[in-house]
Amino acid sequence: MRLLLRTLPLYIPFRNRTSSGVLNFVPPCSTTDVQYVEQLQDFVSRASHLFVMTGAGLSTESGIPDYRSENVGLYARTTRRPMEHMEFIRSAKSRQRYWARNFVGWPQFSSHQPNVAHRVLQQWEERGKLHWLVTQNVDALHSKAGQKRLTELHGCTHRVICLGCGDISAREDLQRHFEALNPDWTAHAGAVAPDGDVFLEEDQVQYFRVPSCERCGGVLKPDVTFFGDTVNKTKVQFVHERLAESDAVLVVGSSLQVYSGYRFVLFANDRKIPVAIINIGSTRADHLAQIKVSGRCGEVLSLIQPL
Ligand SMILES: [Zn+2]
Repeated sequence: MRLLLRTLPLYIPFRNRTSSGVLNFVPPCSTTDVQYVEQLQDFVSRASHLFVMTGAGLSTESGIPDYRSENVGLYARTTRRPMEHMEFIRSAKSRQRYWARNFVGWPQFSSHQPNVAHRVLQQWEERGKLHWLVTQNVDALHSKAGQKRLTELHGCTHRVICLGCGDISAREDLQRHFEALNPDWTAHAGAVAPDGDVFLEEDQVQYFRVPSCERCGGVLKPDVTFFGDTVNKTKVQFVHERLAESDAVLVVGSSLQVYSGYRFVLFANDRKIPVAIINIGSTRADHLAQIKVSGRCGEVLSLIQPL
């Protein structure tokens, strides 16, 4: 692989955008220095139990916008902000608004497909290179790609949990339930957020009917960690155990601004487990990384062999 890389030009030119618009939410990134890609290849080759953590930067290449990227992230493009946990818990009106938007956005959001980065990581698992993958994404793209050694740190929008009895059900089933309860309710989807949210006017929302849990009548919530909530302790402990079994950490497509992911890099640093990062733009953990490759996740990962 080193030989192959050495035959590449000094830097690798990347596409800015495809004609299909699928990369609309990928921040601009003109070049990646081949020298860093070679270092990353050595880093991956040396690892026998690679721990990978992924974030929104991986899914932008599947057409799902992230929150924080400069100019193209939702924070930069819109005034909308993600649902807060306590607002969802306390307010039936907020839940109605959330689910109405989520209902409209669901067909598009749920249809996104894994990209080359998801597929490469799944192949690394098959080849025995990847020990465990933790994702901060809630879009199910890793599981759609067939990843098995996977923890969805912030849950998954494709599941629904009852806050009363804890029952887990498929989001797809809830969509049919929404349709049955709201046969005349129509709305048009705008831009879809990373969590499947969509913008609707208040008067469109007020007639939307939201079902309760069929078992206990409890409140239904997407099985995701909203902002302001904390990740389940058992899940965090499980991830720490998988990380302690690993000999290298690779962060892919995350700025690590959220502590729930950043803490694992701190843990790796404490244990002297080396860290490499692939991300467009700076991250909170750049100073802790042995290698930092600035580039599109899929294009960088597809250059690396799981030797
Ligand atoms: Zn229930």
